[in-house]
Amino acid sequence: MLKVMDGKDEEGLRRAGRILQEGGLVAFPTETVYGLGGDALNPDSSRKIYEAKGRPSDNPLIVHIYRWEDVSRIASKVPEEAKKIADAFWPGPLTMILPKADIVPHETTGGLDTVAIRMPSHPAARKLIEYAGGFVAAPSANLSGRPSPTQARFVLEDLDGRVDMILDGGDVGIGLESTIIDLTVQPAQILRPGFVTREMLEDVLGKVEVDATLLRSDINQAPRAPGMKYRHYAPKGDLTIISGPIGQVVAYINEQSGKKAAAGERVGVIATKETRRQYQAQVIKCVGSRQDELEIGRRLYAILREFDEEGVTCIYSEAFFGGGYGQAIMNRLLKAAGHKVVRIGSPDGKKGEGHDSDWK
Ligand code: AMP
Ligand code: MG
Repeated sequence: MLKVMDGKDEEGLRRAGRILQEGGLVAFPTETVYGLGGDALNPDSSRKIYEAKGRPSDNPLIVHIYRWEDVSRIASKVPEEAKKIADAFWPGPLTMILPKADIVPHETTGGLDTVAIRMPSHPAARKLIEYAGGFVAAPSANLSGRPSPTQARFVLEDLDGRVDMILDGGDVGIGLESTIIDLTVQPAQILRPGFVTREMLEDVLGKVEVDATLLRSDINQAPRAPGMKYRHYAPKGDLTIISGPIGQVVAYINEQSGKKAAAGERVGVIATKETRRQYQAQVIKCVGSRQDELEIGRRLYAILREFDEEGVTCIYSEAFFGGGYGQAIMNRLLKAAGHKVVRIGSPDGKKGEGHDSDWK
């Protein structure tokens, strides 16, 4: 029977650690999103994770550790850059890719010879990893393709009956998955944008590149993080992003919402604090203020799931292009929308439907 335990409860954490050591699965809070943990060095545990999530087995798992010394046990080479960014950002929402050591099974790395490593800062996560023996493979604790869970109830919704225990840590702090940086290439390359931005990494490492496929859908090339090629983070309703001058965006969304509602759809809008009162639609959700990107990141996945709960079949969202953390927000939104973007008020005066390609 599934046990939901308080993530602050010492006894619960120890029991969870034992479950992992015995090859079971435990969902737990981290500062980014909830993770679905298994023993990273046990190939059977990794297989179970893929099965529980319905995740394609070529999509590698991130190995979570709780102390720096353990990096050299699972990586065959630890470049100087690894130590530099660990000093700057660990524990925290940053994952580094390094060549894997033999001890890490290919079941955990999706068949790759590299391993993704992160040291989370959430106290429950850190204790759990320690009690589990030091190495916990943990993708986000959602069914594959669904928005990552930012609350324990969303984990329960997706994984009830598929995990041995859920540790409840309340709302997560960040709400978007970790930044992934590949240190096996020169210069280092960001494979997934997150809370730790390119600018922050460049301050520590010098030049850092960004995988060109991340914000664009027209590049005929697979993203370098295998997981980034899948449609992801998707609500059940059909999501379209509308980009352009904000007044025109609001007008367009209102017009489309009216038409869709008349056709029998239940329409939802992702609005901001600045625009929420200007919309007319059945379900309007405020993702936060444009002045506060952290709030937007924290709210985004919960909103996508709330639309599902409220039976919304058609969703419009404003766009959030921008540098820094805005890249992570827009990357997730684009994936949730299957890259469906309508551009209005473009410089040539045409209304473009389809690609997000010229944007950065
Ligand atoms: P999740 O655990 O759901 O946040 O997904 C983990 C992400 O890390 C996926 O997009 C994976 O493709 C990516 N990842 C994990 N290990 C590697 C690796 N060795 N090389 C490149 N990407 C990786
Ligand atoms: Mg995930």
